[in-house]
Amino acid sequence: MNIILFGPPGAGKGTQSDNLVKDLNLYKISTGDLLREEVKKKSALGIKIKSILDQGVLISDDIINDLIESILSNKGYFNRLIFDGYPRNFNQVKHLDILIKKYNQKISCVLSLKVNQDVIIKRIIGRQVCAKCGLVFNEFFNPSTKENHHCDIKFLQKRSDDNEKTARNRFETYTKETLPVLDYYQNQNLLYEIDGTNHIHEIYKEICRIIHSLET
Ligand SMILES: [Zn+2]
Repeated sequence: MNIILFGPPGAGKGTQSDNLVKDLNLYKISTGDLLREEVKKKSALGIKIKSILDQGVLISDDIINDLIESILSNKGYFNRLIFDGYPRNFNQVKHLDILIKKYNQKISCVLSLKVNQDVIIKRIIGRQVCAKCGLVFNEFFNPSTKENHHCDIKFLQKRSDDNEKTARNRFETYTKETLPVLDYYQNQNLLYEIDGTNHIHEIYKEICRIIHSLET
């Protein structure tokens, strides 16, 4: 089973893909991780990637596509991939189609976590981590109270880039880039949209229900 998972930043995509990796024995493909691993290997490609990253330039689709091919051609991962944050644009979609055919695999389903912008913004800008005990709260959805948390509120910290403008930009970029990609998979009858505002466990149950329906 090869799964593609979509969701805007802050939709809880990481948690859901980790669940799937564990329960279905899948291998997760995240382009960020692939790039970092290649750099660490110090391969010819890794050295090239490092110099591009050091210049602050965007990594080209060609390099991403080569990395994806190295995974798809690996028999150890045959039909047990979960794509997280890829394909990101239409060029990558077309290339993935070619590679999937070339290596005799198929995409089983495309899961899209839908969360409206206001909820996402509040999830991101409301996130607080306690510097003392590590507990995570959200000032809108799950605030720190005397009952659930014993540290002083002065320990609650927000991530520095978690301001509203950044959050809105990230959401808008995501929407603009992925809409045509989702439309494409919709037309292939592969797209399943999931209400990402539900509780994490409810979302995962829905994902499992979809996957189970594909197997039977
Ligand atoms: Zn604490």
